[in-house]
Order: sequence, then structure tokens, then C-alpha cells
Amino acid sequence: MAVGGREFRSLDELRRYMAECDRCPLGCTRRNLVFGVGDPHAELMFIGEAPGEREDVLGEPFVGAAGKLLDELLASIGLRRDQVYIANVLKCRPPGNRDPLPTEIAECAPFLDEQIRLIDPKVIATLGKFAAQFVLKTSRGITSLRGKLYRVDGRQVIPIFHPAAALHNPGYRQVLFEDFRRLRAVLARTPEQAAEACAEGREVEPAREGAPRVVECETPRLFDLE
Ligand code: SF4
Repeated sequence: MAVGGREFRSLDELRRYMAECDRCPLGCTRRNLVFGVGDPHAELMFIGEAPGEREDVLGEPFVGAAGKLLDELLASIGLRRDQVYIANVLKCRPPGNRDPLPTEIAECAPFLDEQIRLIDPKVIATLGKFAAQFVLKTSRGITSLRGKLYRVDGRQVIPIFHPAAALHNPGYRQVLFEDFRRLRAVLARTPEQAAEACAEGREVEPAREGAPRVVECETPRLFDLE
């Protein structure tokens, strides 16, 4: 979905366009717009929910305690944050870290769609409920979505809990590390192996007109963890 009928040539051009964005009320309360960071040609893109307090101050996603855990998770599969791209569904902080509103997501969505188009990642890892629901175009909860692999617009999508969940409930920590091992297995696939892994599957929900088809891949062939 282009932004106001316009397609951008680069992330920098999109970032400049968004600098003064006030398409939703969060544009009036943010300190900094949190556009995203990382390799603009990354094979792996992470999508989180929205900036928190520290992200709002620094203008960078995942720089608080959840960001530290994300760095640890990345290191566990041999990656650094400059080798991936990290963005959020919302680019401005909801006051008091409340959940994003549907109207805010709808206004901000074209920017994320444009980021995905420009980066063109092979794999998208969504972090938490809102990102999973946005990318997979579903209202299903994160607990039923995680642990599975999906195919959207030719990309593999793997929903993961938000790292912040492990800060509140340490039991999630191990689940996160397991999901990152699965992510590593998905990343290691050749395009042919990826297509084969998702050759069979079923639509998550009937695609709306003009929307991409979202397929849940056959679970037993998903992750091949040795
Ligand atoms: S959240 Fe998105 S749509 Fe709302 S003001 Fe920020 S950049 Fe604009």
C-alpha cells in the first residue's frame, strides 16, 4: 500500500517525508518519531509494536530492557542488530505505553508497508500480538499464532512473543530463545527449500480483495531443528 498514492525510492526519502507526520494524534504527543534501524537490505526484518518511553526519547526502536534482551536473542543465533532491520507498527509512542488503537494502526500502516516493500526481507519476525496481527491480517491471538510459520507475499513470517513479555514473566525467556533457534533454521533455507516448506498449507483467513494471501504452512515441515 503506497503512502497517499506515492511510492518512495529509499528509506531515507520515506523517513524525511514522515518527519513531521501528524496523521494520527500520537504525532502531537511524541518526543521523537521512531522510524526504524538496521540494514536497509536486510534478509530479516523484525516488527514490534510501538515505541516505549526510552525509544521515544532516543528515537530508536528496542533500546530499553526489551531491546537488551533482543540483542541477546540475536547474539544467540550469531546476528547483530546492524545485520537485520528493526521497526514497529507505530512510529510514535502511545502515551503511558498503552496498546495501539486500531485507528492509529490504520493511519500508520502505509508507512510500515512501504518499509517492507523497500527493504524486501526474505523473512519477517513479528514481535508480539499487534505486529503478528498486522502482518498476518488476522485477529487471532499471539499464543495461537506463534510456533508456526506463515507465507505472505512470498515471504516467510514467523510470529514470536514480544521480548517485553519475558521481562514480566521469566517463563517466556526460554520460549523466546527456542523461537530464535527456529528463526535461524528458517533463515538458513534456500528459496527452493522455503517454497517447498510452504507448498502445502491453508489460508489463515479468506483474503480481502487486493490483500495478500496469508498461508499457514504445514507444521511438521516447519523448522527442522537438528
Ligand atoms: S504513529 Fe504513525 S501515523 Fe501516527 S503520527 Fe506517528 S508516524 Fe504518523
